[in-house]
Amino acid sequence: MQCKVCFKEEKAFSFSKRFICQECFKQLEVIYKKFKLEGINIVALYSYNDFFRSLLYKFKACHDYELKSVFLDRFRQELKLKYWNYTLVCIPSNETEDEKRGFNHVEEAFKELGLPIKKVLYKNKSFKQSDRSKEERKLVKEDLSIRNSECLTGRNILIVDDVMTTGETLKCAINLIKKTNAKKIKCLVLAKK
Ligand SMILES: [Zn+2]
Repeated sequence: MQCKVCFKEEKAFSFSKRFICQECFKQLEVIYKKFKLEGINIVALYSYNDFFRSLLYKFKACHDYELKSVFLDRFRQELKLKYWNYTLVCIPSNETEDEKRGFNHVEEAFKELGLPIKKVLYKNKSFKQSDRSKEERKLVKEDLSIRNSECLTGRNILIVDDVMTTGETLKCAINLIKKTNAKKIKCLVLAKK
């Protein structure tokens, strides 16, 4: 089998059965860190190390669609059990970038869990967070808006994102979802800076 990350051939991938070789598996450092934001429980799965950063870059910026399964592979069963009665709401990325890429990378990575997904959050402006200075980012609180939120009524919502940086976007999403008739809210991110 060929590793989807480094393309090395290995007879069998002992941990992650289908996607990633042992070397790459080790470098993707699991932290499974639990913390709270706005009173909501958040879990971050990986450390934001160089390996994670380059992997995400390949997936997100170099449009390497094959990598979609790598991120959640080892957690699949555990997360499916933990969040079996949750509906996913993805933090949206820049829509122009999604169009270029042909897929929304957050949605594709989390689709692996097989949970229902509701697209209710939208970016207000079409510029990237990374184009802003740290100071500017602090000022942007109303970065997202919500549409068709009645479809969340009575549901347990799991807000998902790739990387949590300052936490402002996630905070904004949490506060928008809190205003809906959703039952419970939790968050899951791939990595935390
Ligand atoms: Zn590899």
